[in-house]
Amino acid sequence: MMNLKMYIDGDWKDAANQETRPVVNPANGEVIAYAPEGTIEDARAAIYAARKAFDEGVWSGLSAQERASYLLKIADKIDEYADEFTQLETMDNGKPLREAGFDVADAAACFRYYAGLIKAPDGQTYHVGDPMQAMVVHEPVGVCGLIVPWNYPLLMSVWKIAPALAAGNTIVFKPSEVTPVTPKKLFEIFEEVGLPKGAANMVMGAGPVVGNEIASHPEVDMVSFTGGTKTGKHIMKTAADTMKKVSLELGGKSPNIIFADADFEVAVDYALFGIYAGSGQVCSAGSRILVEESIYDQFAARFVERAKQIKVGPGNDPATEMGPLVSAQHLEKVLHYIELGKQEGATIACGGNRIVSNGLENGYFVEPTVFVDVKQDMRIVQEEIFGPVVVIQKFKDEAEAVKLANDTVYGLAGGVFSNDGAKALRVIKKLRAGITWINSYHPTYNEAPWGGYKQSGIGRSLGTFGLEEFQEIKQININLQVEPVGWFEN
Ligand code: NAD
Repeated sequence: MMNLKMYIDGDWKDAANQETRPVVNPANGEVIAYAPEGTIEDARAAIYAARKAFDEGVWSGLSAQERASYLLKIADKIDEYADEFTQLETMDNGKPLREAGFDVADAAACFRYYAGLIKAPDGQTYHVGDPMQAMVVHEPVGVCGLIVPWNYPLLMSVWKIAPALAAGNTIVFKPSEVTPVTPKKLFEIFEEVGLPKGAANMVMGAGPVVGNEIASHPEVDMVSFTGGTKTGKHIMKTAADTMKKVSLELGGKSPNIIFADADFEVAVDYALFGIYAGSGQVCSAGSRILVEESIYDQFAARFVERAKQIKVGPGNDPATEMGPLVSAQHLEKVLHYIELGKQEGATIACGGNRIVSNGLENGYFVEPTVFVDVKQDMRIVQEEIFGPVVVIQKFKDEAEAVKLANDTVYGLAGGVFSNDGAKALRVIKKLRAGITWINSYHPTYNEAPWGGYKQSGIGRSLGTFGLEEFQEIKQININLQVEPVGWFEN
């Protein structure tokens, strides 16, 4: 049993009121850890520590080279502890070891990417006319509040922490209350590599308590949030009072468009991966499969045939292809949507049940589920279910595919499968979404920006854009001819 602690101003802390919250393994319902139930007082202590560290320049005052060498040491340590991270991630989130292993490797790569990027040439100069010289420099925003969800406990943390620290900010980080285990391990590494006190602080606890304090506190300059759209709206409103810089990575209901001229088996294969990877608990999941009329029946039949073969089980079993949902609460939500789909009149082509046999009865397992005969205005078509539940819809031509694809409030991701390159690109360009694929689904890279259109968010993570999110831009105008301006006569 692990007793987790928070990391504030370089010290490991319990909650101010000593309260804790159990952390559960979703594969079997067992408690694996107790985490401090942080309070407003704890959040404030972390904010003040970050403020002091920023104002004293213990981190922002370092050269880019010095900050980069810390980030590289962190990356090396993540690699060194990769097995432990992978096991812990599977135990806490439920994802299969293979998936967790990818996330851990990607987390190390993200620190390395930003260690390099922060040393690249930066800023601009402008020829505004003699005798003035204008230039632009990037500076850290200050104290950044980073709030993350439970679906990629380590990776979502790193997507924020690595660029925020690279840019010279100090941070107050809040993991999801459901999955604080690998974030805690990451902060152990920060201590191990000797990150200056106060540069990186972690407070655990409930969103409406700790998260809300981070979003509202006047000493926090920016809030960067990944999570549900509803929470994102709340955070944006809260942050408006102190006019914080806001960056939001939110939910999705992403279309995966399959044309008749696509390579059939490749499209089926990626469509399965698009929805069932991470048990569908992936913001960019391809949760609406749109199939051209002429191959619809054949596609749906083959998809269902393969969905039924997916091996569902505990993440730590090497044979497992799909793990459990993250929590009992989330299981309820997903089962509720399945019920709703039936009530709305959709047909279940496969799945639709919690799995309560073969030793999985204490975990939060749901069968890979397919709905057909759906209508565009059904809630199972419009709303993010965030589980292994997909709708397969029919379209007759390119125009209808685009119309259906864009017809939700979300705009996070989307895919197109076709062997007509021009058509595929034409359709992708019409998708109102920030992350797209042609003849692929899901792969993402530290080098390229990640984020959504419409109600899927504001701003971008990763790549050069992901660094700029955590920077302010300052123009500096220099007079090369120092003499009075002569505007007033006397
Ligand atoms: P959530 O919105 O419930 O919680 C996310 C985080 O916000 C948690 O740390 C939570 O404690 C905190 N929080 C909750 N209420 C808060 C409040 N009032 N003030 C401040 N903080 C608060 O989301 P979740 O259920 O943990 O994660 C699933 C969601 O995350 C899905 O909608 C998914 O699409 C989204 N997501 C988006 C991306 C992306 O890149 N766009 C990536 C991963 C997950």
